[in-house]
Amino acid sequence: MNICIVGTGYVGLVTGTIFAHKGHTVICIDKEEDKIQMLKEGIMPIYEPGLEEMVKSNAAEGRLRFSTDMAEGVKSSQIIFIAVGTPPRADGRADLSYIEQVARQIARHMNEYKIVVEKSTVPVQTGEKVQMTIERNIKEAVEFDVVSNPEFLKEGSAIEDALNPDRIVVGTSSERARKVMEELYKDFNAPIITTDVKSAEIIKHAANSFLALKISYINAVANVCELAGANVMEVAKGMGLDRRIGRRFLYAGLGYGGSCFPKDIDAFARISQELGYEFPMLRQVQQINREQRTKLIKKIEEEIWILKGKTIGILGLAFKPNTDDMREAPAITIIEELQKRGAAIKAYDPKAMNNAKSVLDKVEYCQDPYGAAKDADCLVIATEWNEFKEMDLTKIKQLMNHPTIVDGRNIFDPKKMIEMGFNYRSVGR
Ligand code: NAD
Repeated sequence: MNICIVGTGYVGLVTGTIFAHKGHTVICIDKEEDKIQMLKEGIMPIYEPGLEEMVKSNAAEGRLRFSTDMAEGVKSSQIIFIAVGTPPRADGRADLSYIEQVARQIARHMNEYKIVVEKSTVPVQTGEKVQMTIERNIKEAVEFDVVSNPEFLKEGSAIEDALNPDRIVVGTSSERARKVMEELYKDFNAPIITTDVKSAEIIKHAANSFLALKISYINAVANVCELAGANVMEVAKGMGLDRRIGRRFLYAGLGYGGSCFPKDIDAFARISQELGYEFPMLRQVQQINREQRTKLIKKIEEEIWILKGKTIGILGLAFKPNTDDMREAPAITIIEELQKRGAAIKAYDPKAMNNAKSVLDKVEYCQDPYGAAKDADCLVIATEWNEFKEMDLTKIKQLMNHPTIVDGRNIFDPKKMIEMGFNYRSVGR
């Protein structure tokens, strides 16, 4: 099939690449000329394991190309995916202006039947607005269908997730579009759930909110564990082995971040409210998440008392391992709070330091974890990269001004750390 992807970010680039990998002809469009130029030269604008090789091989074989030309993208394709950003507005609602802009542009260039697919995460009823926008801006009398096909990939394992999804959701009222979408996804070896457009839109928001709820739930349990002297990791294991609950997303720590959970939970709460349901549970999920960061600062203060004039080493900046994405990363709040209290910050992250430089001020970036530990009064684990789990802790201890580790991700065994002579604090144990 001929496919156009509009918005060549994490989702658009990965989606386009895997469709090309499956043998389709894909054109990825973005409004940012620099990004498109980089991709044409084989330079990846984002870090994602396995992406570069797959982009290069599919581009070399002529199945994947990059352009800023919407007319070319729309005219040459049967299916057009909208994968632009839907960032949060100041009031928590999703900013749908990029979606609207793209819908208008698509409409202007439609020359025959097209399927327009919402890949971006959008509030329920956006499909109706996309339909209306296209109808109002269409130039030629051609038919089209709007489909909701939300994306569930995770940054850090995006290629793997997109190739092997747990399920594929296709929301449409059109039999014609449904058949084409089923054909497109037929060799993905995953169940295809076909629904109406609105249910598909809600599936994405409800799924992300539920995952965030799981994280906040275990963080709340971690608070009880700390007060009672229990170990949240044991508790999570005991809970998670119940197949109705499951082990995944039951890790206590600094809470969720990233470009999806915070904004999607906010947007879901807002659209629910607009529809007439408050959904107070979602507000609790958000509050618990915020408190996890404040609690970590408190632990640092309990360990080293006055922060003014102290040096804190931060290990991990990205919102989670295996990505360079800094959007809504807990490390940002933590670093800014520590700086407000007068601490000097040294930091190391295997992939996210370049992106961090545009978000954070006055941070000394280091070559490796040992650089961040050198002369530090406290070391904070903010992202659970494997590299940190494998550090030479004896060397870390020798390098530090004072051997205090506040582990926001529970990557070390408290007993061993104390035996090694560290002051060690973690979450919920
Ligand atoms: P992103 O910011 O990485 O990429 C969006 C891209 O769209 C940018 O490159 C931007 O330049 C481009 N764009 C914006 N307006 C455009 C226009 N008018 N024409 C052409 N290009 C335009 O965003 P992302 O992380 O890929 O997320 C995209 C959507 O997918 C969001 O709705 C997000 O919630 C959803 N989503 C993201 C993830 C994830 O892990 N990142 C996972 C699932 C769903």
